[in-house]
Amino acid sequence: MTFDISEFRVSAGEAPKLNKRDTRATTGWDSNDKDGGKQRVLELNERLEQLQELLWAEGKNRVLVVLQAMDAGGKDGTVRHVFEGVNPTGVKVASFKKPTDEELAHDYLWRIHHHVPANGEIVVFNRSHYEDVLVVRVLDLAPKSRWSKRYEHIVNFEQMLADEGTTIVKIFLHISRAEQQERLQARLDEPDKNWKFDPGDLIMRERWDDFQQAFEDAIAKTSTNDAPWYVIPADRKWFRNIAISEILVQTLEGLNMEFPAPAQGLDEIVIPD
Ligand code: ATP
Ligand code: MG
Repeated sequence: MTFDISEFRVSAGEAPKLNKRDTRATTGWDSNDKDGGKQRVLELNERLEQLQELLWAEGKNRVLVVLQAMDAGGKDGTVRHVFEGVNPTGVKVASFKKPTDEELAHDYLWRIHHHVPANGEIVVFNRSHYEDVLVVRVLDLAPKSRWSKRYEHIVNFEQMLADEGTTIVKIFLHISRAEQQERLQARLDEPDKNWKFDPGDLIMRERWDDFQQAFEDAIAKTSTNDAPWYVIPADRKWFRNIAISEILVQTLEGLNMEFPAPAQGLDEIVIPD
C-alpha cells in the first residue's frame, strides 16, 4: 500500500483549519487494524535505520525534524517509537525548555541555530523556535509588536537553512481537548506516570483555544515548499507513529542518496592474519 503523505502536508499559503480536522483519523489505514499498524511501524523503523546510515555515510544532507504539540501531545512517545532502532550516533534530539537568563538576553533564534543538524545528521527539535510565536504569544511574554514580526523571520531563517542544504520537516501532533484530558488524568491516576504531571499544564489547558489559534496562525504563515508543516491526527498513538515514520522515510528516500564510492583497489587488499 502506498501511503500518501501529502494528505497531511499544509501547502504554502494554506490555512490548516485545525478545528475541521479529525484528530482520530487513520487516513489511508483501517482504523481497526492497530496490530497491523504497529507491525508497519517496525518495518518503517528498519527502513529508517538504513536510510539514516546512508545519510551518515554520504554525509551531504542534513535533516531537521521540528516537533510541536499541545502538552501531552505525544512528542516524547513519537521520538521513542519512530526512532526505535536507529543508530543514536546520527540522530540527536534537542529539547527547548523555558529559556534561561542567558538565552533570554539574546534574540530568540540564538539558542536555536546552534542545534541545527550538521552534514549526515538528523536532529529532532522537541519544541523549537515556534514556542516564540506560541506560548510567548498566548501568555503575553513579549508584546505583539515583537512576536508578530517573527513569522517572517522564521520563514527566512528556515529558507536559509534549506538553501544551505538542510531538509526540513515540521510536524504538529494534533490531539483533541478530550484526548489531552484523558492523558493528563492518566498522569494523575497511574503512579508510574505521576512524574510526568506538571500542574502548569492545567494553566496552559485553560488557554486551549488561544493555543489552537496560535498554532493555526503559525502553521498558516510558515508552511513553505522547503519547510512544510504536516498536521498529524495524533489521538491514536499507533497511527501517529505510522504517519510520521512514513513522512520521514519518504522524505529521506526523496534525497536520492548513494553510498560513497569505495576506495580504489579494495578488491586487491587481503587482511593479514
Ligand atoms: P513534557 O511533555 O514531558 O511535559 P515538555 O516539552 O512539556 O515535556 P517541560 O519542561 O514540561 O517540557 O516544558 C517546557 C516548557 O517550556 C513548556 O511549557 C514550553 O512552553 C516552555 N517554553 C519552551 N520554549 C519557550 C520559550 N521560547 N519561551 C517561553 N517558554 C518556553
Ligand atoms: Mg510539559
